[in-house]
Amino acid sequence: MTEQPTISDPASLREFCLIEKLFARRARSRLRADVSIGIGDDAAVTRFSPDNPGEADLVTATDMLSEGTHFLPETPAHSVGHRCLAVNLSDIAAMGATPLWASMALSLPAVDEQWLNEFADGFFALADVCGVELIGGDTVRGPLSVAVTVQGSVPCAQAVLRSGAQTGDLLYVTGEPGAAAAGRLLLAEAEELPASTQALANKFMYPEPRLQVGLELRPLVNAMIDISDGLHADLKHLLAASSKGAALDVDKLCLHAGVESGFSRAQAIELAMCGGEDYELLFAVSPRNVAQVHKLAKGWSCRLACIGVVTESAQVEWRQGEESYAIPDSGYRHF
Ligand code: ADP
Ligand code: MG
Repeated sequence: MTEQPTISDPASLREFCLIEKLFARRARSRLRADVSIGIGDDAAVTRFSPDNPGEADLVTATDMLSEGTHFLPETPAHSVGHRCLAVNLSDIAAMGATPLWASMALSLPAVDEQWLNEFADGFFALADVCGVELIGGDTVRGPLSVAVTVQGSVPCAQAVLRSGAQTGDLLYVTGEPGAAAAGRLLLAEAEELPASTQALANKFMYPEPRLQVGLELRPLVNAMIDISDGLHADLKHLLAASSKGAALDVDKLCLHAGVESGFSRAQAIELAMCGGEDYELLFAVSPRNVAQVHKLAKGWSCRLACIGVVTESAQVEWRQGEESYAIPDSGYRHF
């Protein structure tokens, strides 16, 4: 499978520069007062009546999956249907918002009814569980790709942004980062997976957007992001938006048992740091709210790890015990 670019790839850096150069800079002229948060966070936040604090904010996220880049031709259509919605719901979760509506733009090389039926089953199974209604879209002939936009709501001015982390905040991550990337590797290598590795493949094929977790964290956390590009890359996005650094410990990461048993320790850590596609939540919380977060986490279906602390420095320092831990350089590929 063509791997998803990560921040350490030149290709990904180009993507970020491109967005900044072509879109973000121009958009920053701020034509409209009703855009609270434009380009640069997990989702946009807009408001119909900027002077009415009683009105909920509208939260909008768009993500696209393309065959060859985000999924292999042999990927089950059901998984593609699930993922194209899940990746957007994950961005909505990262804002602490409730998803409401979805629109879908579909490009298809030909009409394959069986593929489309399975795709729709995957999409609607998740949409139904999350209370999201498909309200429109577009369908054209072209290379297989699907772009979904999800809109949701959040109480006025309460969306959780990437930019609010404070020095001294604790950094937490949900779930078991690296499991989805391990699943992606296994899927690319084997036609039929042994049952023991199917759980990892499912982490890649059926990411679970952390909507309830995001909602419960909203009043407690200072900053949040979902992990799509890899823990290290998305941590850097959160810290850059907050103008902070961090000190972290790789031994604090919760790793999936299948990753721990199937990969070396160094590979497992690299999968967790750089693998991407986790769709877990990474957040910064003040020490005074930590006990409340731990209490809430007892009701979650996912694990939670405190991986470090936000610092005033501009550095992101990973350690393993007392030793400093180097994150792979750009351009270097382990797998
Ligand atoms: P995420 O990984 O959370 O989906 P991205 O890295 O895809 O976020 O995008 C970062 C920011 O850039 C987001 O605010 C997104 O809306 C914006 N963005 C990405 N591509 C475009 C584009 N073509 N036009 C305008 N904004 C874009
Ligand atoms: Mg995101």
